[in-house]
Amino acid sequence: MNAWRVAVRTSVGVVRSSNQDAHWSNDSLVVVADGMGGHAAGEVASAIAVSTIAEAFAGDQSSEGLRRAVVLCNDRILKDAELNPERHGMGTTAVALGLVSAPDGLLPVIANLGDSRAYQIRDGAIRLITSDHSVAEEWFRQGRISAQEAAVHPRRHQLTRALGIAQTPDVDLFPMAVQPTDIILLCSDGLTNEVSETEIIDIVEAAESLEDAASELVSRAEANGGRDNITVALVEILGPMSQPLATSPAAVTSAATPPPRARTRRVTWRLGAALAALGAVLAGAVVVLGWYANSSYYLAADGAYVAVYRGQPHGLLWFAPTEIMTTDFLAAQLRPADLTALGNDIVEPSLAAAIHYAGYLHSAWLMSQFSTPSTPAG
Ligand code: MN
Repeated sequence: MNAWRVAVRTSVGVVRSSNQDAHWSNDSLVVVADGMGGHAAGEVASAIAVSTIAEAFAGDQSSEGLRRAVVLCNDRILKDAELNPERHGMGTTAVALGLVSAPDGLLPVIANLGDSRAYQIRDGAIRLITSDHSVAEEWFRQGRISAQEAAVHPRRHQLTRALGIAQTPDVDLFPMAVQPTDIILLCSDGLTNEVSETEIIDIVEAAESLEDAASELVSRAEANGGRDNITVALVEILGPMSQPLATSPAAVTSAATPPPRARTRRVTWRLGAALAALGAVLAGAVVVLGWYANSSYYLAADGAYVAVYRGQPHGLLWFAPTEIMTTDFLAAQLRPADLTALGNDIVEPSLAAAIHYAGYLHSAWLMSQFSTPSTPAG
């Protein structure tokens, strides 16, 4: 008997002209990939991803085998782009659900890279398993913006991790605790950007069958705008599964305290230990503060030019921001809204991201000069 049943639906959506999503499923593996890149390269990247993961996982059905299968896609996509320069820069997300061999049966494990998602649905409740590797989502995790802001943030589509981008991709693995009748949903962001989690659960609960649920989810994404390709894979767990090992509680590290001297009264020793611990905590707080104060970069104007600063805008306690470099981009050559944003400092997670974004803002301004008729110079 199969361990699960799968229903997959995909759609080009309402706006796009081609479907760059890809999917693959059998009785031990389900994969959804969302490709990106011009000249049909996104389709190539996602197709390489699903075929590579299927082939590699068939040869090694372990957690490590699943992780390696995803890493192997990266090598193949980079190699293909090298041989076919017109596909340079192509990439893809990948979310894969594999049944790996465990001592007492089969354990479902999710591997993820990018902003496609996996959800677990049970008894009318839905739980997101994966984390999106996007700029907005990372900012949310760092506490810089709220969940509501992240959901609509203009940089939620800008991926921090994807296949085909870096030499060694960092793949997230999630062993899952499931029971029969649970449903696992794998999907591209064409579903989650159009259909809320509440709508997803309502549709799955109301559907007559797994196939109807998958079709209905895609139709709803189309009805809500369909601005991207949509792929939905629903997996219904049929039989009992192995359970992941309980994770050991996080180790509690305590501050080192000096050994009590023989003469010291017990209460005095305790006071000394408490003070030492407090001292260690305060010293740690200073280190953390210093790290936080210098952990980010931001763009602001230095005279006529856009400059990159390191630190928190306006400083933090005695940590003042320092200017790292002045770019070649004139602050006057920015779109009005970007110039306003620059006045409020544009925070970026790294120096490379800050430089990259400065370049992007300048090219966006250049393009705006082409699209709007320019007024004669006065
Ligand atoms: Mn997409």
